[in-house]
Amino acid sequence: MRTIRTIEALRQELRAARMDGRTIGLVPTMGAFHKGHVSLMERARAETDVVVVSLFVNPTQFGPSEDLAAYPRDEARDAAIAEQAGVDVLFAPPVEEVYPDGFQTTVSVVGGALVNSLEGAQRPGHFDGVATVVTKLLNMVQPNVAFFGQKDAQQALIVRRVVRDLDIPTRIAVCPIVREPDGLAMSSRNAYLPTSDRERAVALRRALDAAEQAVAAGERSAAAVAVAARGAMEPYGVEPEYLALVAADTLAPVDRIEQEVLVALAARVGPARLIDNTILSTNGRP
Ligand code: AMP
Repeated sequence: MRTIRTIEALRQELRAARMDGRTIGLVPTMGAFHKGHVSLMERARAETDVVVVSLFVNPTQFGPSEDLAAYPRDEARDAAIAEQAGVDVLFAPPVEEVYPDGFQTTVSVVGGALVNSLEGAQRPGHFDGVATVVTKLLNMVQPNVAFFGQKDAQQALIVRRVVRDLDIPTRIAVCPIVREPDGLAMSSRNAYLPTSDRERAVALRRALDAAEQAVAAGERSAAAVAVAARGAMEPYGVEPEYLALVAADTLAPVDRIEQEVLVALAARVGPARLIDNTILSTNGRP
């Protein structure tokens, strides 16, 4: 595996592969690798010939009061994990390489629930930062396929929107959420959780379980499913920042569980802000 820090060296490295007709896969990350990241790398390894993982803690997607400075960084550990997963290129540019002096362009998905709901409502500017850096990474690497996690469901939808709207010739693959044995979704931010909060963090998965069980038992009212989900968090003393039932493709709120419905939630557990989601489906049953 080669670690590359400049766009020019990256292009040079990928030129031969492209000329030979080998396919390129990109896994964009902010590092602090866990099994969720590894699952994306393995999927890229299986589906494309040359696997590039970008490691860049993107400052423009953090709000002024968010955890940019504290975000866990350990490149040596990440490089070892990526190498083990069969990654060919670790692209780890410094901030000045991505945002040189004079940088003044933003890619912004405008309007609608897709960007204004859920994380978009809680984290102003976040998705502008995401859309801009992902567009830049797709232009730098020009991959055939880019791999994202369903863990960040809204991000994956926004990336698909950008790629369609800007005619970027990359297929977007969205991979399932990888969880700890107790159900907590893997996240770099789980590292912030002290033991007592780590135990309470399972509340998010329990809310999603309750939503799934309510629908399996025949409940079709979104409000009733939301009540069941919130109720499952109470014993853990965890309050959702939001818990929403929305159309899985547009993120518009729904009243009934008919098509595929995304249950998305965010909650603060001690020092960490965690997100999780699941897709509810009635499997054709009324
Ligand atoms: P991050 O480093 O947190 O920006 O995440 C990089 C990529 O990994 C994003 O596409 C995430 O959605 C994905 N990811 C993060 N956590 C998980 C997880 N638990 N399971 C699957 N994918 C994940």
